Amino acid sequence: MLEEKQTVAAIYETLGISREVYAFGSEIEKTLQERFEEIDQTAEYNQLKVVQAMQECRVSEGCFNYVSGYGYNDQGRDTLEEVYAHTFHTEAALVRPQITCGTHALALTLSANLRPGDELLSPVGKPYDTLEEVIGIRPSKGSLAEYGVTYRQVDLLSDGTFDYPAIKAAINEKTKLVTIQRSKGYQTRPSFSVKQIGELIAFVKGIKPDVICMVDNCYGEFVERMEPSDVGADLMVGSLIKNPGGGLAPIGGYVVGKQEYIDQCAYRLTSPGLGKEVGASLGVMKDFYQGFFLAPTVVKGALKGAVFAANIYEKLGFSVVPNGSESRHDIIQAVTLGTPEGVIAFCQGIQAAAPVDSYVTPEPWAMPGYDSDVIMAAGAFVQGSSIELSADGPIKPPYAVYFQGGLTWEHAKFGILMSLQKMVDKGLVTL
Ligand SMILES: *Cc1c(COP(=O)(O)O)cnc(C)c1O
Repeated sequence: MLEEKQTVAAIYETLGISREVYAFGSEIEKTLQERFEEIDQTAEYNQLKVVQAMQECRVSEGCFNYVSGYGYNDQGRDTLEEVYAHTFHTEAALVRPQITCGTHALALTLSANLRPGDELLSPVGKPYDTLEEVIGIRPSKGSLAEYGVTYRQVDLLSDGTFDYPAIKAAINEKTKLVTIQRSKGYQTRPSFSVKQIGELIAFVKGIKPDVICMVDNCYGEFVERMEPSDVGADLMVGSLIKNPGGGLAPIGGYVVGKQEYIDQCAYRLTSPGLGKEVGASLGVMKDFYQGFFLAPTVVKGALKGAVFAANIYEKLGFSVVPNGSESRHDIIQAVTLGTPEGVIAFCQGIQAAAPVDSYVTPEPWAMPGYDSDVIMAAGAFVQGSSIELSADGPIKPPYAVYFQGGLTWEHAKFGILMSLQKMVDKGLVTL
């Protein structure tokens, strides 16, 4: 036993992790066994949910065939959409490689279900950065604003909860769709639990029953046993290079929900009249299925990494959201490092631990869609995949880094230890 431990510490040392950093991490890890057990149990539940859906939908080898051209009767694509609908307990689903990313899936869903003169409401404050241009909060070509869709926003209260009176006042005869972002994204507000989202939806529907409630579920899938679609969301949207792709999907997005709204999305994605009938799956189906099958386990590893990071950096005196002991509603961990140097060192550590491109040094740059320079660390098999171990930090106060992913807990752990090592090496923390 002792010898085994020494061996692991020795391998870490050859990889650049000092004995001191390793020992610090080991002490933290020892305190997390109960949390980790809970995470294991959620993964078990969700694994069974996915397998059951695959069995009910009679997934077969033929589903993995390469289909090109128009893609009429693409069995793999159609069956996968059934699997998503079964898993998330919705009437219908649209799961396609032609949906290029999460922002696209959200833009598609909004533009498909809103018409000129309609109003979009965010009752949870500012949406994810890239959505600002989709909506037209920041003027942008092709935005919803250009098509005559207006936007209203109700900010969260200072404690991160919903401002119910202001939400009630904001709902009017034009309000057609309410967008609820589950995950904090690049903010330091809390992420919402599925239960909280359910309460908000019930409140909104109590005021205006026919309003469409859409949840941006990015980073939230399989973190809890229930999903927003289990608590009244009419539409739920996400990216396949995050949780539900399980690290294997090379591209893609999904929308699940009520049939009539999914049909709108399909007609918008392809063409009026064609809808879901076209859109060949181009050989990605095996990865989509296998990734979805692995997703609960992959999310488990990412969650353990997030909990580990929270506890490490909290112990060192940094502000972390969520904190070390809070329950989790997404896989993102925010750590406020307080300086640009801290954000850069952290991200360079994550990069240095990657299986791919570990020898490159990330630097901040002006990324399309974001309003400040951003540093991104990702040595991923799939470019930009953030279910793989990755860290992003906008170079603006409060200089917070957003850490997420890890296809395995072991790799997430290594990445966090490496981030800590870089911080120690730069003199930004002392253990
Ligand atoms: C990642 C993310 C998006 C956008 O997804 P991309 O795939 O990066 O375009 C939208 N909303 C939230 C909450 C996200 O985390």
